[in-house]
Amino acid sequence: MTRKFFVGGNWKCNGTVEDVKRIVCMLNNGEVPCPNHIETIIAPPYVFIPLVKSMLRTDFQIAAQNCWKGKGGAFTGEISAEMLANLHVPWVILGHSERRQMCGETDAIVAEKTAYALNQGLKVCLCCGETLKEREMNETNAVVCRQVGAVAGKIACWANVVIAYEPIWAIGTGKVATPAQAQEVHYNLRKWLDCNISPQVAQATRIIYGGSVTSANCKEIGSNPDVDGFLVGGAALKEEFIAILNARN
Ligand code: PGA
Repeated sequence: MTRKFFVGGNWKCNGTVEDVKRIVCMLNNGEVPCPNHIETIIAPPYVFIPLVKSMLRTDFQIAAQNCWKGKGGAFTGEISAEMLANLHVPWVILGHSERRQMCGETDAIVAEKTAYALNQGLKVCLCCGETLKEREMNETNAVVCRQVGAVAGKIACWANVVIAYEPIWAIGTGKVATPAQAQEVHYNLRKWLDCNISPQVAQATRIIYGGSVTSANCKEIGSNPDVDGFLVGGAALKEEFIAILNARN
């Protein structure tokens, strides 16, 4: 089973209209593998989604960085999955560690969001990852399997889910996981899917790595058998994102 290489650019809370136009121009001019070989998502801040959508090349898809856990209504400041579907935004990133840590999103909330978004027809890039303390206490596998397991209890179909393994100690720190560390966690997550969901889901589900991915380290990390792509933060705002999209070339 070959899993299509998958790369996400997570812009986080960055940029101005001028930056957006410049970055989209850079993306549109980049030479990248054809869509048979790569799936690319770009996740701008909500307010820039319509602008990015109007300009971005059509072989790249748009993602939101979050959405509300249920039906829209009296939830000031929130954006619902229905709204994203209505705007033809196909993807949403859920469970990013910055939202877990800074916005109090628990495993249960992330699971609820994932189930609801999938039910609205969205595809989900589901993030998991351990803190430095958890890694030092040898709890990495238990943590990521607990995070993914919470979602598994709420969803029946994995076809529209990509799992992003993002060790928190590697996000935005320049301290990237070694290729062996990434491979080990990805392998264990796949094994967990194999035992707890099905061998088919384990083989088919893309598990991507995130945390200080750059043009300099992407080839080595991406050559591991269980690493199916990347979720990129800082480098997604720069020209080097094009090199990351070409990591498998
Ligand atoms: P980084 O962020 O590439 O800047 O480390 C990755 C992420 O948070 O998705």
